[in-house]
Amino acid sequence: MKLPYAEPFKIKMVETIKTTTREEREEWIKEAQFNLFKLDSDKVFVDLLTDSGTGAMSDKQWAEVMTGDESYAGSRSFTTLKNTVKELLGFEYFLPTHQGRAAENVLFSAMIKEGDVVPGNSHFDTTKGHIEFRKARAIDCTIDEAFDTKAIHPFKGNLDLEKLDTVLKANPKERIPFTLITITNNTAGGQPVSMQNIREVSELCSKYEVPVFFDIARFAENAYFIKTREEGYANKSIKDIVKEIFTYGEGATMSSKKDGLVNIGGFIGLKNEELYRKATTFNIMFEGFITYGGMAGRDMAALAQGLREATTFEFLESRIGQVKYLGEKLLEYGVPVQEPFGGHAIFVDAKRFLPHLPQNEFPAQTLGIELYIESGVRGVEIGTLLADRDPETRQNRYPDLELLRLAIPRRTYTQNHMDYIAAALKNVYDRRNEITQGFEIEYEAPIMRHFTVELKRKETVSLNVLA
Ligand SMILES: *Cc1c(COP(=O)(O)O)cnc(C)c1O
Repeated sequence: MKLPYAEPFKIKMVETIKTTTREEREEWIKEAQFNLFKLDSDKVFVDLLTDSGTGAMSDKQWAEVMTGDESYAGSRSFTTLKNTVKELLGFEYFLPTHQGRAAENVLFSAMIKEGDVVPGNSHFDTTKGHIEFRKARAIDCTIDEAFDTKAIHPFKGNLDLEKLDTVLKANPKERIPFTLITITNNTAGGQPVSMQNIREVSELCSKYEVPVFFDIARFAENAYFIKTREEGYANKSIKDIVKEIFTYGEGATMSSKKDGLVNIGGFIGLKNEELYRKATTFNIMFEGFITYGGMAGRDMAALAQGLREATTFEFLESRIGQVKYLGEKLLEYGVPVQEPFGGHAIFVDAKRFLPHLPQNEFPAQTLGIELYIESGVRGVEIGTLLADRDPETRQNRYPDLELLRLAIPRRTYTQNHMDYIAAALKNVYDRRNEITQGFEIEYEAPIMRHFTVELKRKETVSLNVLA
């Protein structure tokens, strides 16, 4: 019998989580105006809101915390981190930042100007925000398969070369500071990009003299998918695959809160000295001096160790294996989920789960609330609330995908928690026809409404149910 994967760690410290009753949860979610962001974390049993900064550090990382060097200039922890990034990712130049969006702010300040276009594969919200803030445009060139939750494709995060070519052809190279490849493609569901696609994007861009940059929050997870799914990579180590990826680009921004295995942090890696010098000025202005950039020395030291751990096959196999375990359980129960499963989360397809609720009643949010009431499990809506209103017409934007994301923190929950989540969703699924009312908005902010929105239950049964 083939042995299953097992966690390549044992547990040295535990954190108690509180069990709660359905009655309590019904009360609390109402008090939170049916906004999962407004729930206190002690009212949540299993928290799948995000995998960002929510993972568990190892004993070796905690040891680094104790021995970190807090010197303002020339910190030993900085040097360790810089050398680790060079060794693992191959970038000669390195700037620490306090998190991923800060890295974007610094790098984009040096590279993007008004009127520019930045093609890529489903830019992350903060990335898009930092591009649009500079009056430039992010153009999504993700392959069409990414938008069909049932389409099976091993690398659903890929860029469509024809779409990219159209953008590169239509704009002079002075208007395209870079093409951005996000690995894994978070917005499309944590879906990976293949090495072949990265190579071909790089070749196409070099034809137009446009550099390639990477958004690498989950680069190690992406490397795992290349190893396990792409021809020719089965016998390569994760570290070799990671190295190869970065031969195809000029630089990267990182949110260390994901594959860095730390609770806060980010960085920029670069190959070009002139660009590094330009970015340095912005780093000092926005983040801090170049040897700490908004991070404590101890956090830089823990990050260096986290990067080494995240780029091992054993870690990735159990991390991605756990996500897959949950996905397979849900499929077994008939719950409609996005396939293939992404690296960091399972996405439940609310349009297929609650087909009788119209999109203007926020089916994914409704599902998230039902799951919380059922079990104390907190997911997050990736649907109409998040998509917000069109800035010009002020009409709701209805995205193709209406999803409830269950993001799995790294090394935090056990397989029993996965069973618990799956059983809870199955219970909601079994009573899906009784969920006949969606929600309406009572208050919303002019932008980024999902964080602070206040909702109330629709008083009438949805028209679609009656029809
Ligand atoms: C999280 C994330 C960011 C932003 O990083 P923060 O650390 O949250 O600021 C950027 N890009 C991707 C793909 C991400 O997942």
